[in-house]
Amino acid sequence: MSDGWTFQELIEAGMSVTGGCLDCHRHHKLDLPALRDRFGADAPAMEWDLRPRMKCGVCGGKRITLTYSPDTSPKELHRKIVLS
Ligand SMILES: [Zn+2]
Repeated sequence: MSDGWTFQELIEAGMSVTGGCLDCHRHHKLDLPALRDRFGADAPAMEWDLRPRMKCGVCGGKRITLTYSPDTSPKELHRKIVLS
């Protein structure tokens, strides 16, 4: 995985990707299964691959930041820390 993740790898790893618009400050979680179907399971899905193609659906801005994070609930994470 030296050259980044594909959509399929992100889904299998349970990652979530959130796009944030720098112009209107809205955030939207990307629909990874839909993007995989559209671009293909092997399509690269890292920020530098996606950002040039992204556009804010609200204000039309193209200054989008992408955040990659494990799709786990904070409560679950907290519970695990306490119990261990
Ligand atoms: Zn916007």
